[in-house]
Amino acid sequence: MQEHEFEWRMAGACRGLDPAIFHPDDEVDADIAKQICEHCVVQVACLNHALQFREKVGVWGGATERERRRLLRQRRRSA
Ligand code: SF4
Repeated sequence: MQEHEFEWRMAGACRGLDPAIFHPDDEVDADIAKQICEHCVVQVACLNHALQFREKVGVWGGATERERRRLLRQRRRSA
């Protein structure tokens, strides 16, 4: 993966925050991370990255692992 592909991360609202916030133990604990993502200017790029590279753990682009799996299923169905 090229360096520039991760440039959006530099603008992420999570930059400098405790990474543990974005690796919650369950869906309920993910609320804090999701609220931060909601106001992030690179949310779309982040979510697209996670979907494209099938990121398995953590909250990306405001979506938990379970939510991303659901999004991928929906995309497959509508393809
Ligand atoms: S959408 Fe969330 S996880 Fe992604 S860069 Fe923004 S704050 Fe970080």
